[in-house]
Amino acid sequence: MEIKATFLGGAGEVGKSSIMISDNKTNIMLDYGVKLQEEPVEYPLLPREKIDVVIPSHAHLDHSGAVPILFKRGEPKVIATDLTLELSYLLLNDSLKISKKRRERLPFSKRDLKSMMRNSTPIRYRTPKKIGGIKIELFDAGHIPGSASILMSKEKKIFYTGDIKMKDSRLLNGCSLPDKTDVLIIESTYGDKKQPKREDEEKKLKRYVREALTNNDIALIPTFAVGRAQEILLVLEEFADFIAIDGMAKQATEIIYYYKRYIKNSEKLKKIMKRITWVRNMRQRKNIIRKGGIVLTTAGMLGGGPIIFYLQELHDNPKTKILFSGFLVEDTPGYNLLKTGVYSNEEMVGEKNNFKVKCEMHRLDFSAHADREELLNIIKKLSPKKVICVHGDNPKKFAKDVEEIFNIDAFAPKIGEEIVL
Ligand SMILES: [Zn+2]
Ligand SMILES: [Zn+2]
Repeated sequence: MEIKATFLGGAGEVGKSSIMISDNKTNIMLDYGVKLQEEPVEYPLLPREKIDVVIPSHAHLDHSGAVPILFKRGEPKVIATDLTLELSYLLLNDSLKISKKRRERLPFSKRDLKSMMRNSTPIRYRTPKKIGGIKIELFDAGHIPGSASILMSKEKKIFYTGDIKMKDSRLLNGCSLPDKTDVLIIESTYGDKKQPKREDEEKKLKRYVREALTNNDIALIPTFAVGRAQEILLVLEEFADFIAIDGMAKQATEIIYYYKRYIKNSEKLKKIMKRITWVRNMRQRKNIIRKGGIVLTTAGMLGGGPIIFYLQELHDNPKTKILFSGFLVEDTPGYNLLKTGVYSNEEMVGEKNNFKVKCEMHRLDFSAHADREELLNIIKKLSPKKVICVHGDNPKKFAKDVEEIFNIDAFAPKIGEEIVL
């Protein structure tokens, strides 16, 4: 029986990733995420079919952020690594809290989130599981702690990378891959981009931080809570005594350390965690601003979290350094700040939400995605007959390149498109 893939979101875009895999009997949903940078927030298509199983590849909300919606009308099983389940709960619960504060309604409730968690089963990497007639197996994707790529086997082998990184970082080993696949569904965030050398980025980050500390100024590092914050902690180990960690990066770091089998250097991380300052209240924040130091805090793209407080307090100070650590999605407050020098966030109500920022700003690239060369290496290793490119700003172009380089079928589907694999 043939297997079909329906692209419900994340096709030709970064955000709201979701693919439904069906063999006419069983429907498996790979990811069900949100596109937060759109106003209003966008969700993937909701298929008519009953979903048997949802597999969030990792905890980032563009992959897991809409899963609770599926519990409005049914009770699919959720299968993921235990760490992905735990981190997804943290991020989804936070979305609910933020929406309550902003008096916005999310298309799911706390009850739906609880129902999702109740129906969840953790699964380990490289432990095959049968779902109907399809065998699934998770592989370490090397993207964030707990992240997985998903191999589905029936007559054919189909491999979905999710978000993937091939090279090692300080926090994680690079991805592990199966031997060969017939069909490869691959992310293409960096499909036409080369990343700078990691060592160079680390050197730059340390240099800026050292400069700030020498003058008792502040180095403000906005970061994603999951993965990036812990990576930066490891990079800045020698400065640990001067680092203050704030916002959701705190809980994420604690959870990730608890699930330490997913990370390398866990002992080093533990030592760093003992030396840094864990910011718990306003008094501490004000103290840090007075004394200077390194602040590592959420949100990475400046859409919310304690970073806003620091910006409000420090935006007039040209000696403060703001050090962005990775990819900024277009039209997020972080992206716009770097482009225009103005911080603007319409979603903040009753607060100072539009001001010029005089701080020194730098963008560094600690990306957790494979760059073009790594993506091509993944394709080479898996030698598929068909490649489907998703999760990128221009996957069409990447698909065309893949077709030319490897002389195989490659394409970038549109949202709603159904493809026989
Ligand atoms: Zn991701
Ligand atoms: Zn993603």
